[in-house]
Amino acid sequence: MNNEEILAKRQKHLYPTKVPYYKEPIQLTKAKGSYVWDSEGKKYLDVIGGIVSISVGHNHPRIKEKILKMCNEDSIQHTTFLYLSEFMPNLAERIAKVAPGDLDTCYFTNSGSEANEMAIMTARVFTGEQSVVSLRHGYHGGTNIPLSLCGHSTWKFKGQPQANISHAIAPYCYRCPFGKEKGNCNLECASDVKETIETATSGQIAAMIVEPILGVGGFIDAPVEYHKEVYDIVKDHGGLYISDEVQTGVGRTGKNFFAIADSGVTPDIITMAKGIGNGAPVGAVVTKSKYANALKGKLHFNTFGGDPYQAMQASEVIDIIKEENLIENAKNMGTYLIDGFKELQKDFKIIGDVRGRGLLIGLELVKDQVTKEPAVLETAQLMELAKINGLLIGKGSLLGNVIRIAPSMAISKTESDELLKAMKSSFEQLKV
Ligand code: PMP
Repeated sequence: MNNEEILAKRQKHLYPTKVPYYKEPIQLTKAKGSYVWDSEGKKYLDVIGGIVSISVGHNHPRIKEKILKMCNEDSIQHTTFLYLSEFMPNLAERIAKVAPGDLDTCYFTNSGSEANEMAIMTARVFTGEQSVVSLRHGYHGGTNIPLSLCGHSTWKFKGQPQANISHAIAPYCYRCPFGKEKGNCNLECASDVKETIETATSGQIAAMIVEPILGVGGFIDAPVEYHKEVYDIVKDHGGLYISDEVQTGVGRTGKNFFAIADSGVTPDIITMAKGIGNGAPVGAVVTKSKYANALKGKLHFNTFGGDPYQAMQASEVIDIIKEENLIENAKNMGTYLIDGFKELQKDFKIIGDVRGRGLLIGLELVKDQVTKEPAVLETAQLMELAKINGLLIGKGSLLGNVIRIAPSMAISKTESDELLKAMKSSFEQLKV
């Protein structure tokens, strides 16, 4: 089908909430490593990976080989956990090995939203409390509880109930709501979590859910001490600390398998999806057995969660990350790219902020470095130019003025140079 036919069918038969990128959307048909191709054969360096989902590279040969082997052997595709299968417990064991502290008990889903639903339910059942705190500018998925947790008006619907959720102020240093500078503040944003709990809840909470780096929010990276301080506040008020690692997980930040450990915090629950499946629909919760055991005595079911093909792919992802040293590569290439973008910032004043860690890199575009007026249209234009220059980038933030760069963790130095070159050309071509 050509692009026009696809768009016509989408318009006729799909919800209007799914808006494609670009004035003239593209149809991606082939992929290998860090590259994808469209239906007309144009090759792109893919540095957004769907949306932060390609962790070890598109169509990794090892995963491909395993899928083909399972198909050739007529291996069962779907069993549910009503029957025994080695794939789900093998994946759980691997996750327990890479998770911090004694988080060793998993629940599998098909998506990050469902993993977050399960995490919140676990915390509510364990504590017997209802209230949950999340962050403004945070995003946790599209189902009921995650949409209540969401801190973006653009993603919230009028009929959306807000079930016992309070939103604290985000640790958004570039636009600090307290008027402070990064590194020269008293972590007022962390104190706001305390204030929120003490003014908007009974004073006791079930949980706080936080992304170590706020993904959809535009890769907002809190000061490193923030998470520890918030963790202590959450504990003082009886809650569980949930780290949503749907975007930050699998070592993408270049230090630990789960980014919350970069701040020296061992959370009570971690949720993951996207990169753990490298494109396969896998979501998971990992927590301490004492929290999971609070759900004992009731049934809870997820038809496809942990099925053989998905669980096999996620297990392979964990093994590949270790064997190919991809966390180290994320650190090295991340540092190289952030330095490269900081160089570009000297020439292109539209780049107000370069931020992130490892291979989660955000460029916040502004019309003026002093007023920081968001360059919303220019960000959309830059995406179009990058596409013409053979580069697929993402965007985020409340207004959509943050470029998001999250390539495969296996990106090479040559590919990183290609990325910097294409971004430089795109900024040069941008008419401002
Ligand atoms: N948490 C975070 C941090 C996310 O970025 C997302 C998806 N963008 C989700 C949860 C929801 O994941 P899914 O779309 O797989 O339900």
